[in-house]
Amino acid sequence: MTKSANLGFPRIGADRELKKTVEAFWKGNVSEKELLATAAELRKVHWNLQHNAGIDYIPSNDFSLYDLMLDTTAMLGAVPGRYGFSGGEVDLKTYFAMARGNSEVHAMEMTKWFDTNYHYIVPEFEVGQEFSLSSSKVIDQYNEAKALGIETRPVLIGPVTYLALGKSKSEGFDPLELIDKVSTVYGEVLGKLKAAGAEWVQIDEPVFALDVTDRHKSAFKAAYSVLLGSAERPQVCLATYFNDVSEHFALFAEPGFEAVHLDLVRGPKQLEAAIGAFGEKTILSLGLINGRNIWKANIPAIFEEFSGMIEKAGKDRVIIAPSCSLLHSPVDLGREEKLDVAVKSRLAFATQKLDEIKLLADAVDDAGAVKDKLDAIIEVFEGKDALKVTDPFVTKRVSEITADLFNRKSEFAARKKAQAEALKLPLLPTTTIGSFPQTPEIRKARADFKAGTIDKQTYVQKMKEEIKHVVEFQDEIGLDVLVHGEPERNDMVEYFGQQLNGFAFTQFGWVQSYGSRCVKPPIIYGDVSRSAPMTVEWAEYAQSQSKSYVKGMLTGPLTIMKWSFVREDQPADVTANQIALAIRDEVADLEDAGICIIQIDEPAFREGMPLRKGDWQEYFDWAVDAFKLSACVVKDETQIHTHMCYSDFNEIIEAIAALDADVISIEASRSDIELLDVFQEYDYPNEIGPGVYDIHSPRVPPVDEMVELLRKMLKVIPAEQLWVNPDCGLKTRGWPETEAALINMVEAAKILRAKP
Ligand code: GLN
Ligand code: ZN
Repeated sequence: MTKSANLGFPRIGADRELKKTVEAFWKGNVSEKELLATAAELRKVHWNLQHNAGIDYIPSNDFSLYDLMLDTTAMLGAVPGRYGFSGGEVDLKTYFAMARGNSEVHAMEMTKWFDTNYHYIVPEFEVGQEFSLSSSKVIDQYNEAKALGIETRPVLIGPVTYLALGKSKSEGFDPLELIDKVSTVYGEVLGKLKAAGAEWVQIDEPVFALDVTDRHKSAFKAAYSVLLGSAERPQVCLATYFNDVSEHFALFAEPGFEAVHLDLVRGPKQLEAAIGAFGEKTILSLGLINGRNIWKANIPAIFEEFSGMIEKAGKDRVIIAPSCSLLHSPVDLGREEKLDVAVKSRLAFATQKLDEIKLLADAVDDAGAVKDKLDAIIEVFEGKDALKVTDPFVTKRVSEITADLFNRKSEFAARKKAQAEALKLPLLPTTTIGSFPQTPEIRKARADFKAGTIDKQTYVQKMKEEIKHVVEFQDEIGLDVLVHGEPERNDMVEYFGQQLNGFAFTQFGWVQSYGSRCVKPPIIYGDVSRSAPMTVEWAEYAQSQSKSYVKGMLTGPLTIMKWSFVREDQPADVTANQIALAIRDEVADLEDAGICIIQIDEPAFREGMPLRKGDWQEYFDWAVDAFKLSACVVKDETQIHTHMCYSDFNEIIEAIAALDADVISIEASRSDIELLDVFQEYDYPNEIGPGVYDIHSPRVPPVDEMVELLRKMLKVIPAEQLWVNPDCGLKTRGWPETEAALINMVEAAKILRAKP
């Protein structure tokens, strides 16, 4: 029989049980014992699910109370000194202190896991650091499954990835220098797993999906010659994912792994090379079911595409697997009751993906034996009731896009002049990024309207009151360019998705974002178009309340895509252009309604970039165009703004400039030094507002501090190009600090205008 494997299952639970218990534990409403019992129950449910689906290699240690990188830190005893850990087992208090900080110590940093929306806790390393086995979790959880009658393949984040994704706390120190010491502890873990009876272990080294250097390669050699050289170890499956890693096959083949896992969704071509690159005894784990999306797999099509290669490799040499851990998909489609049936027929969440893995393995074994199941899938994709994803009007419109739609009527210099005459803004104009504090009353009004307990009229009335209040406040304190405050939006992507065609929303499609935090991304399943204006009434109302300009506020096509589950049956640029056209129509309608400044937020522009630099240009080629397509419909006098929530522009400043937004606001207050370097070296052509204060904290920055920061900025950015604004939207802030901070910000701008 062709074997099947899973690389990891979502931990949160179909009903987000983990989130709920962990948060209750933090609040002191649930005891440690209860927390651990709920966690064990979830593991049991998930193991049984995989077992019952007929999966041969079932993961353990893929579970975590917060994050697997953090668990690895605990396993290695790599606890930073400030948490006062003095050896032995890392307890829960220390564990959660590292994750979230407490009243005495701050948390460890958190950052994105590759190009997913999952965030991990970044390990910290210093010269001379020592490691010792400080958590028995991996062995305990292996034994726990065994006691339930389930043999599992424990998962470890590999030593190279673990060190490479960490952060050096000693100057000029490369954490990879710690590879030998770390490998010793990994060796100990493998020995204990072997002693416990584990036949296999899965070691993840996704770092090779990135651009790696010789240092990574040497570390890999050093680590695995030790680990695989030992006789006291289970068989090892090296797991790679998120990219084609064929350039490293010679390196991977050297130590003699018993199995190697490849992501054939991201790198379908690498299978051919792998067949020859690894010894005939090396099992190839084929990541053919996408672990990162929510789409039903077209198994007959996958089978057809890969059966020749599988034949060539030898059926008994392959394992069928998901491309990566299923952590990145929601738990169970079965719970959805409100989805359109045709849309639902095209989806598969983690639970359904298990059946897909098994079915594909069965098909590889003997396609004839599962013909009925395969035919049923063909029916879903091609049958008479198949979901209609194309809209002829959209297809036509996209096919008619001409080059001139991507450009403004005039170059920036001419627009700047036209805008200066039309808008008459002062030097160093002040503005904000869009949202104002989302008070409990606003949230309640939205929830009540959604639940039907208040009618539309009452809801609109409440929102207008809020908008009026926000606009009046901004006028009162003398901001130059106002916003309406976004009270009607609970999320900047969902708000637009709900008004666009081609989007679907789930009830329970939650995916872990970090720790106990989950997100429920919209699904873009079909051609996107706009049926009616989405924001115009609110914008008109807000503008009617002030003599100053109020910005129209939209979310850009790249961000809408990046924060949704995107269809994969057409190239990304086509989807991006469809969304861009819908936004473009909104931009045109806003302009017609008399809105003179329109902001198109693209906080996810950077996240959308591919993992390897060599692939960036291809992304910029379509991504920059999509943004421009959404924006370049307005006359010269209309000012287009954009916003991004970060400032590490060093390597992408030219792509940012190519967006040709008249004004961009970015995050800067926490990283002013590096940012200033960029502008020292590169003459950014258009106008820019590097945030002058950090909105992530309730702290009110004093006037002098902002004046000083602006003075530094003025050294590298000419005053005619500089805007004054906070780092990001204010929706997570309270009113008192918002008022105080903005008053100070306006004051800082006034001081500089008087005396630059
Ligand atoms: N306009 C949005 C806001 O102010 C931008 C949010 C973001 O950048 N993530 O909330
Ligand atoms: Zn932002």
